Amino acid sequence: MRIIVTGGAGFIGSALVRYLVSDVGAEVLTIDKLTYAGNLQSLRAIENAANHRFLKADICDRQSIKEAIDSFQPDRIMHLAAESHVDRSITGAADFINTNVLGSFALLEAARSYWNSLPTARKQEFRFLHVSTDEVYGSLGETGLFTEETPYDPSSPYSASKAASDHLAIAWHRTYGLPVVVSNCSNNYGPYHFPEKLIPLIILNALDGKPLPVYGNGENVRDWLYVDDHARALHLIASRGQPGQKYNVGGRNERRNIDVVREICRLMDDYRPSHTPHEKLIHYVTDRPGHDARYAIDATRLEDELGWRAHETFETGIAKTVRWYLDNNWWWEPLRSNIYAGQRLGTL
Ligand code: NAD
Repeated sequence: MRIIVTGGAGFIGSALVRYLVSDVGAEVLTIDKLTYAGNLQSLRAIENAANHRFLKADICDRQSIKEAIDSFQPDRIMHLAAESHVDRSITGAADFINTNVLGSFALLEAARSYWNSLPTARKQEFRFLHVSTDEVYGSLGETGLFTEETPYDPSSPYSASKAASDHLAIAWHRTYGLPVVVSNCSNNYGPYHFPEKLIPLIILNALDGKPLPVYGNGENVRDWLYVDDHARALHLIASRGQPGQKYNVGGRNERRNIDVVREICRLMDDYRPSHTPHEKLIHYVTDRPGHDARYAIDATRLEDELGWRAHETFETGIAKTVRWYLDNNWWWEPLRSNIYAGQRLGTL
């Protein structure tokens, strides 16, 4: 099995690449532009693996991508490359439109041209997995879950750009027959998460005794999934998903943001008592513009049709995650010192 993973030096992409290379034993080509969010240190565990290679390239550069695909001859393309941080999309949307919309278009076109050149048997086996988010569905009220039939209603420049690329991917299936599957996943967390996102930011600020910023009243609800559970789901969807179909991925772990922050404080009180009680560091800040109230995923299709289950509960996953950050400062210290020190992003 030969697999191209775009965005494989990012948070979810690197978890997927580590899983495909070490556990599945696939031949993997990681393609990544190495933006601020891309980090080859996240692939250190497999840097000497004979079944992995890396190409630094921009998915918007159709010629380079076409050459990479034609020479690697993949059985699958798993597309994760994206600009992924909502707050950054509020400050400036251009990179989101370029990479998420135009880059996905360029990749679909390169994949289509390659797929058309394949003999019939390989053509039937080929899959293009477009990896997306539950944020395309917009916001839920207090009840209900997102299903694959929920209409798209994105709120942020990020989620609108992902919605656009989801529509392109499905259209490339309906119009050209390209065997595309789309996955829409809830919020991920776990090791190697760039420390601009809520969970790693709170862990590292708590470690330093710095204020723990909570947007608005902290009541916004997210459905949290441990990143390695997502990686297994992606492999399953790319292997056994029906072309033209969408699959929601979520761990049935809804939590209010304030409860996520309190749980991290509780773990930090146990593991690093120097700033105990860490809850005293919680600091409510101006809300994010267009902040969706609640996301929650119905993953029944993935569970029933493909037999996937999340292995981690939020409690087991968050404990592992906090421990990982405490034990792996070699990974995050250069990012905090040189790229992003924790300042507020995405205010108007
Ligand atoms: P990330 O920001 O950690 O990683 C994105 C990677 O893409 C980086 O390595 C970056 O260098 C690379 N990249 C960006 N622009 C590129 C370009 N033009 N060409 C090539 N590479 C480029 O993001 P993530 O959290 O790992 O998310 C991966 C995918 O999963 C994204 O498509 C995102 O929309 C989706 N997703 C994320 C979450 C989440 O909670 N993080 C949830 C659901 C879906």
